[in-house]
Amino acid sequence: MVKDTKFYDILGVKPGCSQDDLKKAYRKLALKYHPDKNPNEGDKFKLISQAYETLSDPEKKRIYDQGGEQALKEGGVGGGFSSPMDLFDMFFGGTFGGGRGRRRERKGKDVVHQLSVSLEELYKGTVRKLALQKNVICDKCEGRGGKKGATEQCPTCHGTGMQVQIQQLGPGMIQQIQSMCSDCRGQGERINPKDRCKHCQGKKVIRDRKILEVHVDKGMGDGQKIIFNGEGDQEPELEPGDIIIVLDEKEHPIFKRSGNDLIIRQEIQLVEALCGFQKVIRTLDDRDLVITAMAPAR
Ligand SMILES: [Zn+2]
Ligand SMILES: [Zn+2]
Repeated sequence: MVKDTKFYDILGVKPGCSQDDLKKAYRKLALKYHPDKNPNEGDKFKLISQAYETLSDPEKKRIYDQGGEQALKEGGVGGGFSSPMDLFDMFFGGTFGGGRGRRRERKGKDVVHQLSVSLEELYKGTVRKLALQKNVICDKCEGRGGKKGATEQCPTCHGTGMQVQIQQLGPGMIQQIQSMCSDCRGQGERINPKDRCKHCQGKKVIRDRKILEVHVDKGMGDGQKIIFNGEGDQEPELEPGDIIIVLDEKEHPIFKRSGNDLIIRQEIQLVEALCGFQKVIRTLDDRDLVITAMAPAR
């Protein structure tokens, strides 16, 4: 018996579900509630992440199943949760293994999109066009945000990108609070408003519409990723991240997929069971298969 089903409820799965079910539930919800797509959902993305992190780890899951969230806190397993963004990147990241770390810092973030595909499309293969909005380097100012040499040190933070506030808490007690400079958004430099590029308003990038052709190959499956290297948002001095398309298989009214097999359930009448029957089944690529069942031998 599971003590507390909260994490299962968050992911919309039942205790005792398979790791595949967990992955699928996380995948769908994390994509839906990612702050980039759904900025108004507050803590939901974090909760989904915590629930998945716990239930996908056999040791944490065991502790949670036995004693609920309280036991997790007391058990001190790994000391709390990973950042929801890290977990997301790890789950969806196009650059697994050696790609992380230093290289990562020079690279913009990956953008993940979900693409709903029917079982027919997965069976026959298809090309889908996907319209996306992305940031591209402004071509009028070549990503400088203004005229050449118009960049100057931010007068508010003197180029540090940080603002320091000092608060007197009591006699002899001082608290220093550091925060990101709001005038230059932590960049340490700004472009004099009069020299700002009119095309991008000094932002260095503009939003652009882009059509991607997604080639869905025959036999691809639910959750499979199609990666477009370097097609993510552009940012000055950064290698653009990837666009990652995650396939989401729609349920089919007749066929259920199990790996590379298709399963169909049909009710038959008693007379058919006793005397045998012939039925025609329309396949996903519109062929007619004749199924012949013999009467059981007596
Ligand atoms: Zn510009
Ligand atoms: Zn500043």
